[in-house]
Amino acid sequence: MRSLSKSLYTRGLQCHKSLYLDRHRPELRSEPAPELEALWASGHKVGDFARMLFPGGVVVPFDGLTKEEQLAKTREEIARGTNAIYEATFVYDNVFVKADLLVRSRGSFDLYEVKSSTSVKEHYWDDVAIQYYVLSGSGIPMNKAYLVHINNSYVRNGDIVPEEFFVLQDITGVVKEKQAAIPDTLAEMRDMLRGEVPGIDIGPHCDDPYECDFKDHCWAHVPEHSVFSLRGRGIDPWELYRQGVVRLDDVPLDALNLMQRMQAEYFLDQKSHADPEKVREFLARIRYPLCFLDFETFGSAIPMFDGTRPYQQVPFQYSLHRIDAAGKEANHFEYLAAPDADPREELAEKLLGEIPEGACVLVYNIAFERRVLKELGEFLPGIRKRLSAVADGMIDLMEPFRRRDIYHWKMNGSYSLKSVLPVLVPEMTYKGLEISDGAMASEAYFTMGEISDPAERSRLRKALLEYCRQDTLGLVRLLEKLRSMAGAGS
Ligand code: SF4
Repeated sequence: MRSLSKSLYTRGLQCHKSLYLDRHRPELRSEPAPELEALWASGHKVGDFARMLFPGGVVVPFDGLTKEEQLAKTREEIARGTNAIYEATFVYDNVFVKADLLVRSRGSFDLYEVKSSTSVKEHYWDDVAIQYYVLSGSGIPMNKAYLVHINNSYVRNGDIVPEEFFVLQDITGVVKEKQAAIPDTLAEMRDMLRGEVPGIDIGPHCDDPYECDFKDHCWAHVPEHSVFSLRGRGIDPWELYRQGVVRLDDVPLDALNLMQRMQAEYFLDQKSHADPEKVREFLARIRYPLCFLDFETFGSAIPMFDGTRPYQQVPFQYSLHRIDAAGKEANHFEYLAAPDADPREELAEKLLGEIPEGACVLVYNIAFERRVLKELGEFLPGIRKRLSAVADGMIDLMEPFRRRDIYHWKMNGSYSLKSVLPVLVPEMTYKGLEISDGAMASEAYFTMGEISDPAERSRLRKALLEYCRQDTLGLVRLLEKLRSMAGAGS
């Protein structure tokens, strides 16, 4: 009988083919994206931290012990009467599981599954149900099953209080209900694994509940410009796919809403469009002194600083280009915090020293930059008014692109800076930069805090500064481009 594990079981629930490929063709699996690896690392930290809910327990480590040794150590701790076991390990029905927290409770045990999310999702139930099945089958007298997730309204004030930081949800009822179906589900999976690769086509299940790591393989027949490239709400691309429509060229235009139709038509004709009158109206609002601002932020599951919530985006870097008067050159200013220290006060003070009062501040995606300033103001009430004046002076350079006053088929229906810039200002490329997006930037900032080699730290620092500078220089060039398209002067 094929051995399975908790993660293989949940993989199989999402898609039999995914389980099959994992067991028989693992070489087809894609490398995990750096963001995903960062998410896993963060999940591990949260899992470790949750042990403080039941302190004084014993861990059964995965690394350094064979499976047999992990099983033996778990048995030992149970026999010894240990109150809390972290990563307790069991096998039953040839399914291997490690339970995040197993806690003694009046002659039986409670099972706790820790998630780094801020809410409970239904697919977590199966994750707990298979553990409950294995533990019960191993002869462990089971009492309750809980999901432990993060309380998103928790605000750090000094040491984190685990009982307030986590929310415990009793899901014993639903977990017990799921027990009866598990043997059949396991048998189906094992049957499937003995046969040929299942003939399962791609579908919404490829991303639900998790993005499948075999997508590069299964989606190879989907071209770059396909029904799945259609942006915004409108027709369900799966409806078209099921009708045999895959390429964007083949989409029936009548089935699309206005925005999607524009995307498809412009793609077919490879055309672009600009409405100089609307662009001029937008440009008329821009005045001097003129700043171009971009923040880089990180959000950690476990808040690092007082006054922050889980996953709150804390700014650690900004780039600012400033043009003091029409016809003048842009001056560049920047800030990058040293890792580990709370950067907010220093960053805010420096920023306010560089943005003149009453300045017009151009950003790309105003909601994000405004939220950063608002949260800085909440933390620093002494300068709240000045920060909010900066936010009031902001104009979103994304506006004309979101309205499609300017549109090019190569933008693929998107108005993100990473889609717009290469089309309108091709010389402003991110190619060749070590850091090329915000997720990589925040990862690099964390890495800087973890490494001690000064040369490596300085290399990352340089890469971060280069990336953020590129973002605001891109805005400077984009504005120049808009002005030339609209026939407007500076
Ligand atoms: S990409 Fe989709 S169809 Fe292919 S294995 Fe993954 S979930 Fe299944």
